[in-house]
Amino acid sequence: MNMKKTTSLLLAALAALFTLPTAACGGEEEKLCSYDISATYSAEERTLTGTVTFDYFNDTGSEISDLKFNLWGNAYREGATYSPVSRESQSAAYYDGTNYGGMEITSVEGCSAWEVCGEDENILSVALPASVFPDERASVTISYTLTLAKVNHRTGVTEENCVNLGNFYPVLCAYTGEGFVQTPYYPTGDPFVSECADYKVTFTLPENYIAATSGKETSRTAAEGKIIVSYSLENARDFAAVLSDGFSTESVRTGDTTITVYYTGDQAPAKVGEVAAASLEYFSEKFGEYAYPTLSVAMTSLSVSGMEYPALVMIDDDLDTSDAVYTTVHETAHQWWYAMVGSDQVRAAWQDEGLAEYSTLCFFESNPVYGFTRTAMLDAATRAYRAYYSVYSQIFGEADTTMTRSLDQFAGDYEYANIAYNKALIMFDALRSAMGDDRFFGALRNYFERCKFTLAGEEHLIAALDEKYDVEGMIDGFLSGKTII
Ligand SMILES: [Zn+2]
Repeated sequence: MNMKKTTSLLLAALAALFTLPTAACGGEEEKLCSYDISATYSAEERTLTGTVTFDYFNDTGSEISDLKFNLWGNAYREGATYSPVSRESQSAAYYDGTNYGGMEITSVEGCSAWEVCGEDENILSVALPASVFPDERASVTISYTLTLAKVNHRTGVTEENCVNLGNFYPVLCAYTGEGFVQTPYYPTGDPFVSECADYKVTFTLPENYIAATSGKETSRTAAEGKIIVSYSLENARDFAAVLSDGFSTESVRTGDTTITVYYTGDQAPAKVGEVAAASLEYFSEKFGEYAYPTLSVAMTSLSVSGMEYPALVMIDDDLDTSDAVYTTVHETAHQWWYAMVGSDQVRAAWQDEGLAEYSTLCFFESNPVYGFTRTAMLDAATRAYRAYYSVYSQIFGEADTTMTRSLDQFAGDYEYANIAYNKALIMFDALRSAMGDDRFFGALRNYFERCKFTLAGEEHLIAALDEKYDVEGMIDGFLSGKTII
């Protein structure tokens, strides 16, 4: 009884803390914002120069007079307060030594004023000529140049000369009752929170380049040594691409989805394509249908193993086959937990990372041919977590084992991995053991169905699980750090 009281308080506290627009969970389809992006890549300059015509639809229920966009690419500039690359990954990422990029806004049309501001020059603030009231629209056109650092990271030119274009355009900040969420580029975790929109993207590229993108190709023309390729993507919270003049491709079709693996070297594209297809089928059946017509798997250089975007995943091209297979399944799982069902990756990273890790475990458990077992994965996570706990307890006298905290409250990648991945995996396995498979997976199906294309709060996931079985107290024990592992 005491426990119940505590957990009700927990839920109330979570609801108060988590102020992203969650009312839409389970609601009917909403009208969306749209991005019409046209960008040209110059390999000589390492720049992407483009315009974004952003059509804003006000679904906030409030009067909006300014729009705020994230300029993620500006974190790569000289003098940035926050490095986009974590301390631990710096030397692997900056393969050519220290160098910089940046995102410069050159003009904004359709506004009365604009400025680059924010804690770390990470925000473009656009004052609209007139207030936009609920259900009204406004349009602005932003011209910009993204200069790419030589870096193996989400946005940059890699040592294999792939062009990683994560976060390559100004992205509207997610809106809460308190305004647009303005988060700097924290080096640990994925500091991105954005809402679903529609996209038309046109790239002008040197003619020998191939683009892996989030979108479905809609047109292609060639002229004067260039190709102009257009893509569309609907109801997605981001759009990403990887360009290369050395890509080979291998496609596999599953259901209505075409999966294409883009690779440059002697990686194992057939194996990666096969496991991407198998896991996409498995998650579609287990949680709900994959929503997009394509999935691009881009093998490129990264300082981490993989990175997810809607309908595009980046997989580090240096991984051995076993790690590439594992990472591909993890990033494919993110299509459900991050891409379709969004969540607050800054303040509740365990929610999508934990579910992606646990979904990965479930896939391998059902597909023993890949050689990963539930027991081995759970044991590995438990061993790693206990080692973290022991080391931190000895060095700092205590280990912070709370799971709900902001990315900037993690000491670094090691603590983050053990809390948001390992501890969350252990928690989901404990929940599944307590609930039984039918209730556990039924809860995740309900969570997916109710919250797809929205930003789900922690309380939505907890409620979906708790209504199948009384597990609020158990979840509270893990999230608050009271449960000993
Ligand atoms: Zn992940």
